[in-house]
Amino acid sequence: MLTVDSPVLRQLDAFRGIVGADWVFVDPEVLDAYASDETEDLHFLPDVVLKPRTAAEISAILRICNRERIPVTPRGAGTGLSGGALPHLGGVLLSLERMNSITEIDERNLQVTTEPGVITEVLQNAVREKGLFYPPDPSSRGSCMIGGNIAENSGGPKAVKYGVVKDYVLNLEVVLPSGDIIWTGANVLKNATGYNLTQLVVGSEGTLGIVTKIVLRLLPHPQHDLLMLVPFRSAENACAAVSAIFRAGYTPSAMEFMERDALEWVMRFVDNSIVAIGDDIVAHLLIEVDGNDVDVLLKDMEGIAALVAGFDCGDILFADDAQQKAELWKLRRRVGEAVKSNSIYKEEDTVVPRAELPRLLAGVKSIGNKYGFHSVCYGHAGDGNLHVNIIKGDLSDEQWNGSLKDGIREIFALVKDLGGTISGEHGIGLVQKEYMPIVFDEVQLSLMRGIKKLFDPNGILNAGKIFEND
Ligand SMILES: Cc1cc2nc3c(=O)[nH]c(=O)nc-3n(C[C@H](O)[C@H](O)[C@H](O)COP(=O)(O)OP(=O)(O)OC[C@H]3O[C@@H](n4cnc5c(N)ncnc54)[C@H](O)[C@@H]3O)c2cc1C
Repeated sequence: MLTVDSPVLRQLDAFRGIVGADWVFVDPEVLDAYASDETEDLHFLPDVVLKPRTAAEISAILRICNRERIPVTPRGAGTGLSGGALPHLGGVLLSLERMNSITEIDERNLQVTTEPGVITEVLQNAVREKGLFYPPDPSSRGSCMIGGNIAENSGGPKAVKYGVVKDYVLNLEVVLPSGDIIWTGANVLKNATGYNLTQLVVGSEGTLGIVTKIVLRLLPHPQHDLLMLVPFRSAENACAAVSAIFRAGYTPSAMEFMERDALEWVMRFVDNSIVAIGDDIVAHLLIEVDGNDVDVLLKDMEGIAALVAGFDCGDILFADDAQQKAELWKLRRRVGEAVKSNSIYKEEDTVVPRAELPRLLAGVKSIGNKYGFHSVCYGHAGDGNLHVNIIKGDLSDEQWNGSLKDGIREIFALVKDLGGTISGEHGIGLVQKEYMPIVFDEVQLSLMRGIKKLFDPNGILNAGKIFEND
């Protein structure tokens, strides 16, 4: 709640002078709409919501906030799963939603320059019209924004073949907490010129600067893709099949894992029973191959089908046409929402070297038995990236807010033992920061804090995200 001597209240006229009175919001309904993202059931009201249109406006806002020590939380579409866009300290919520133009599609150099508020799928469709391909495709691509993707170094199903956001970012325009506006690099495919500021900003979760323009590299769009859904009688066999497929020389363009519950819940959620799940089936792999030669793709699918048969799979569903492919992909992309609609939950974004997936899954289940929680697991199996959704179900609030944390710690310790880490693509944000010491020692953490201090000496920008500020 704003008080008369609130530093934010004292600056409202200045903010109106910068962005225009129509883009400064203090009404409770608007503040409430920006108080949560897709992380659990968390809710923090900002003091004001600002919707700037240009980097120059953001620069002027940050100069004031830096001088007055007002906390600033950048926000894209608010689909984040680690609480990065939650204004937990109040202050200014800086929405990038009006910066939503694609500046240029450079067909000669296969590059696109865009503002951060463009929806990821809109950008993908715009370059597709020119025969070009921007592969990073978070399952939320219909609603998340490209600036949020940069800040989280997002992945998605295609990452297994094409890589994640960091593999496509060439150059960024960034407004620093001081108000200075910089470009981080150059619009080139190779760059060995000094420290790599571009990659430092990618994945920095809005803690180092506000990304206001983005240059991405593109690929020619593959002409064909084929999709199949493989049921398994053992979840560990499904996980073991994943690394066997890669070892055999195949490079699928997607390799997604879903436990039985995940698929059942999402079919109920979207009211679509396209898949008949046999009683003995406990998990599925959704496998896609893409390229320009259908005969080669058909041969790959046959080879993969023969290989998974050795892992005691059931009858494989080969998607016949574009509609069936779209329906299967819809099921996979909406699993997260289906889980969320079912119960309060916590999502852990574990990632291990691919061949360790069976041990991770078995370990998660055994830790669940020890602490009395049920988990629904799915994710980007080809990347070793397993989303562990811990379901509140019948757990008491005391268990949920207390001993469950010990269980999560055990899962993360296991992940570390297996050579993995605690987030593959969702980031650390607000809700995972207490677990950072499991994977980083004090030397590593103090280097990170030092970088933060250099960019943001007054700690105004997304403070208390990733780690506590000094
Ligand atoms: C159903 C569902 C499915 C999902 N599937 C995937 C998936 O497959 N892969 C995946 O990686 N993620 C996935 N996510 C997570 C989420 O969509 C991504 O993290 C996404 O990149 C967030 O984008 P956003 O625009 O919503 O960002 P927000 O949630 O608004 O913000 C995320 C972070 O970015 C910062 N930020 C936003 N814009 C800027 C900017 N311009 N400059 C600086 N910092 C900024 C914010 O401060 C915050 O720290 C999923 C989420 C949901 C709800």
